[in-house]
Amino acid sequence: MNLNDTIVALSTAPGAAAIASVRLSGENAIGITEQAFRSRFGKLLSEQKTHSILLGDFYQKNTLLDEVLVSVFKNPNSYTGEDVVEISCHGSVFIQQKIVQTLQDLGARLAEPGEFTLRAFLNKKMDLAQAEAVSDLIASESEAAHHIAVQHLRGGISSSLGELRDQLLKFASLIELELDFSEEDVAFADRVQLNELVQKIKNTLKNLLDSFATGNAIKNGIPVALVGKPNAGKSSLLNALLDEDKAIVSEIEGTTRDSIEDTLTIGGIQYRFIDTAGLRQTDDVVEAIGVQRTKEKMENASIILYVVDPQHQTPTATAEALKSMQPNNATLLLVLNKKDLIKESALHSYLKELDVLGVDALVFAIETISAHNKEDVERLKTHFSGQVQWNTGNALISNQRHWGALQAAMQSINEVAQGIQENRSSDLLAIDIRQTLHELGTITGEVTTDDILGNIFANFCIGK
Ligand code: GDP
Repeated sequence: MNLNDTIVALSTAPGAAAIASVRLSGENAIGITEQAFRSRFGKLLSEQKTHSILLGDFYQKNTLLDEVLVSVFKNPNSYTGEDVVEISCHGSVFIQQKIVQTLQDLGARLAEPGEFTLRAFLNKKMDLAQAEAVSDLIASESEAAHHIAVQHLRGGISSSLGELRDQLLKFASLIELELDFSEEDVAFADRVQLNELVQKIKNTLKNLLDSFATGNAIKNGIPVALVGKPNAGKSSLLNALLDEDKAIVSEIEGTTRDSIEDTLTIGGIQYRFIDTAGLRQTDDVVEAIGVQRTKEKMENASIILYVVDPQHQTPTATAEALKSMQPNNATLLLVLNKKDLIKESALHSYLKELDVLGVDALVFAIETISAHNKEDVERLKTHFSGQVQWNTGNALISNQRHWGALQAAMQSINEVAQGIQENRSSDLLAIDIRQTLHELGTITGEVTTDDILGNIFANFCIGK
């Protein structure tokens, strides 16, 4: 990838639309566009001020392709920090392709995935965590996921780590200075102050690491497992929750279906219902709790919706099943379904028996519903919200790479703490501090390798 090339790509989604946007970045972005563009009043693109827009015609050789708007952003005041041109054209697939092709013919190279943002990072328009947030922002499908991405885009994680890293860097220099005087027994770096900083860093790292479970779940959707005997009404409940007939309801027990994965947004958070088809084959929790597949489903779930048809399952069996789910550490919601078929008094005694069996202590909530009549399904939804705290103002990490780097940083800062405690020599301390600095630096991108950058930007879409 030659970063001196002028690059071009369609920035809007492929396919027909009212308007599409083609973007160029690089030294010749304006010059290349100018060869295909004639503005309405004969103004030259190259003579325009930065952040200006011209209306005009776009030509492929002598053929008029479209009437377009061309925006000019001059370096360094652009997304990439280079000269950037954005062409808004009509969104026909034919026009989009022709415009990109024409610009390629005139000397632009098709951008690699994420290359615009890579250039923005390399030109210091944003740090690495912010660049990654751009990708998360594009992918965000719920209010909470969007919230995390915006926080990172604003430099949330970078600023909390950056300041600590700077302070640690000062200590690293002081300790390294001690190495020059190793003959004399001097300490330029105050060990008490260093220790305070180390504890502060440990705390920050711990909070960020702890936030990953939530952040990651929000980013990917909170996994919910629907568990219960065949015919308890899992598919019907899923339909009712989704308020549509996506799942197939059948009266035949254990009817095999295609895997169904559905998402539902409640209170700004996306919930992902894990493949209940798999559950169906082995979903008699009481008898088949040992079956690996069901176990895995439940292990991966943050919330388990245990659906019971009280007419076909005794309270004791229900309590046993719930007990066996305890080790999953998921929030258990017990759903007694088909209340339309049961007398209120019978339902009442069922609940009473569950109470005697201590089920209240096992579950987050018990709801009685009729999935079929969509009765009290909305009330069930209220138990979902409040499970995940995301709007606390604290930074949440949602990125696997950040988690790995924080983990590594934690390991080396623990070494530093240990070193201070054991009064280790300056050179040993310096090594561990440098290592911590290195790990912290990989998050924001002070330290990068081609591998890291390659991995991150390969996952971007072309045009961003
Ligand atoms: P699953 O095997 O647990 O997914 O159960 P289904 O959702 O396929 O439901 C099995 C049968 O029970 C179907 O005939 C549903 O129509 C019926 N059913 C499910 N929920 C209710 C309910 O709340 N009331 C009534 N009357 N029937 C229900």
